[in-house]
Amino acid sequence: MSQKVIALLNEARSRELTAISQYMVQHYELEDRAFGKLAKKMKEIAIQEMKHAEGLAERILFLKGEPTTKPDAAAQKGQEIPAMLATDIGLENAAIKMYNEASLTCAAEKDQISKELFEKLLAEEEEHFNFFDNTKEHLEKLGAAYLATLAD
Ligand code: FE
Ligand code: FE
Repeated sequence: MSQKVIALLNEARSRELTAISQYMVQHYELEDRAFGKLAKKMKEIAIQEMKHAEGLAERILFLKGEPTTKPDAAAQKGQEIPAMLATDIGLENAAIKMYNEASLTCAAEKDQISKELFEKLLAEEEEHFNFFDNTKEHLEKLGAAYLATLAD
């Protein structure tokens, strides 16, 4: 089996581990600042990223590789909501770009199952991107009125 594909799956896993840690930080920080609604959404997305990390590990093990436990970046702490959203949009954007390319590489390496895994993750990252981007736009347009709707 392709070492190239295993390396890509592990690169993706490192991204997912960063995303999990980032969204969990935002979850408890928002919870602490009484933005309960947005906090809950961050937790939901963090759990989806955990499932991504798990799916990647399973595929890596199946291919006889070793799943990494290292995130590829440190989580940002103490950000205001607009900065949080910018961080999240950046993470999702980078994942979308990487997974699109990774699925093409898997096809070239004739690994259809890894390709399908990347495509499945891709669809969910696009949803995450959309949520963060819409939230950012609402916040820019409506300001404090919208912030109030994100609180408990
Ligand atoms: Fe993910
Ligand atoms: Fe995501």
